[in-house]
Amino acid sequence: MSFEIAERDLAGRIGKLRTKSGEVETPALLPVINPLLQPISPKILKDRFAFKALITNAYIISKNLKEEAVSLGIHRILDFDRVIMTDSGAYQNLIYGKVDTTVEEITRFQEDIGTDIAVILDVPTGWKTTREKAAWSVEETLRRAQRTIKIRNDNGILWVGPIQGGRYLELVTYSAKRMGELPFDIYALGSPTKIMEQYFFDILVDMIFVTKTNLPLDRPLHLFGAGHPLVFAMAVALGCDLFDSAAYALYARNGRYMTEYGTSRIEKLEYLPCSCSICSKYSPSEIRDMFPKDREKALAEHNIYQCQAEIRRIKQSIVEGRLWELLESRARSHPTLLQAFRKFDKYSTYLEKNTPTSKRRGLFYFDSSGISRPEIVRHRRQISEKYVTPEERKLLLLLPQTLNKPFHTTNEYGRVFKTLRSIGKQEYEKTEICAYAVPFGVVPLEIDEIYPLSQFEATSPFDEESVKYVCSQVKSYISSRNFTTVLLHYDRQWGANLLEACRKACKQTGKDLLISYRGKRPWSRKAFEKLEEALKSIK
Ligand SMILES: [Zn+2]
Repeated sequence: MSFEIAERDLAGRIGKLRTKSGEVETPALLPVINPLLQPISPKILKDRFAFKALITNAYIISKNLKEEAVSLGIHRILDFDRVIMTDSGAYQNLIYGKVDTTVEEITRFQEDIGTDIAVILDVPTGWKTTREKAAWSVEETLRRAQRTIKIRNDNGILWVGPIQGGRYLELVTYSAKRMGELPFDIYALGSPTKIMEQYFFDILVDMIFVTKTNLPLDRPLHLFGAGHPLVFAMAVALGCDLFDSAAYALYARNGRYMTEYGTSRIEKLEYLPCSCSICSKYSPSEIRDMFPKDREKALAEHNIYQCQAEIRRIKQSIVEGRLWELLESRARSHPTLLQAFRKFDKYSTYLEKNTPTSKRRGLFYFDSSGISRPEIVRHRRQISEKYVTPEERKLLLLLPQTLNKPFHTTNEYGRVFKTLRSIGKQEYEKTEICAYAVPFGVVPLEIDEIYPLSQFEATSPFDEESVKYVCSQVKSYISSRNFTTVLLHYDRQWGANLLEACRKACKQTGKDLLISYRGKRPWSRKAFEKLEEALKSIK
């Protein structure tokens, strides 16, 4: 296998892609090099920006530098001795309607110039395409993929099978399924440029999801044409491993300055929110006043630095298991990103399946947008599918969460145990003690040490949606188990919803509900006296 996964978080992963010119760690961004028109040379991209891979267009090279490229090889033409991926001309196809080459010709050419990663001559679907034309682009790409497989030589090149279908999700699904059956080392999703231009990120989320879930998971996925740091975190979290960016250079040509949270025109900036070598050296007005070629070069350098920095930030987040938190903060950069991020709820089972069960650090819960995160979804699933309440437990004692964790080791819970023991050993054994807690809902004390039930920080006071979530979990916990009595030690700061949830669940399933305390200080001496009274009344 040419691809090996080292770390995971959500559906994102850090992997190693082995090629004949060396290894590339993913997620990786490959700067697009136009050999005829290049603001930053490949050598500088390697030496100054530490890029280990780049992508160029085999079609443009075959039309302009054919003999030279065949005799010297692509690495010498570009003066880049690391990994080179070549696209086949698909983009030209999209712009001009057709390319003047054949599957045979471009396959042979990519082999002859010694590329490391080659893309078949696919037919991009584009955006304003009828369903019929889109379906044709999918079928034709599949035909060309089969043809390429037949004629390609076994010479160490990794071949890429592109998925088409554009915004027609059923076509993307079909395309991924069929392409996934063909022996490619890497798959790629063609993302229409419109998505990036118009910020249709929610469509991109759906496209990536249906692509990933219909492809072999052990192969890397390249997302074509998404070269802005704004989308990297989201795309990685859904399972994309490779990106290409022409945007860093195209934006620079138009005086546009990229950041991880958007794009600004250089004329509109009073300050530069970056510390790269360009932004440390020049002020916005100095960049504005440069000769056009120098300005383009300066902005391209800054833009590619921003892209590279965001990829590193994402990798660090994967290692620390905090990719979700990075997504939450990126989602606040633009309303359309938040809209796309909300779609993650729909795909929470997929994300949960791919997230490790244990992490190096606890999780931060800010507000209800965290309810869809894998750790919370997993706890909900395990409580309903796996956690069994012992038969002899007839009483459910519900206690509010404490600031310290694990709950069962705190002074507050220690006093509850003492109170229970003073009532009698038998009663104690008949009692199931659970905390009601943001963000997990119901936490049985037997498992409160299991990651991450004690390894989290939540913002308080809790927002309304988070409280509602806990209430729904309490309700289903009561309803799904055979207690005869529920004793709620109530913290008034939780509002009326919790009381209501307990009442409803008990009424519907014929259980008695007792409320030991209703004030704002559930751990006060008075509250404990009330708890003791209530416990005695059950006996
Ligand atoms: Zn900068």
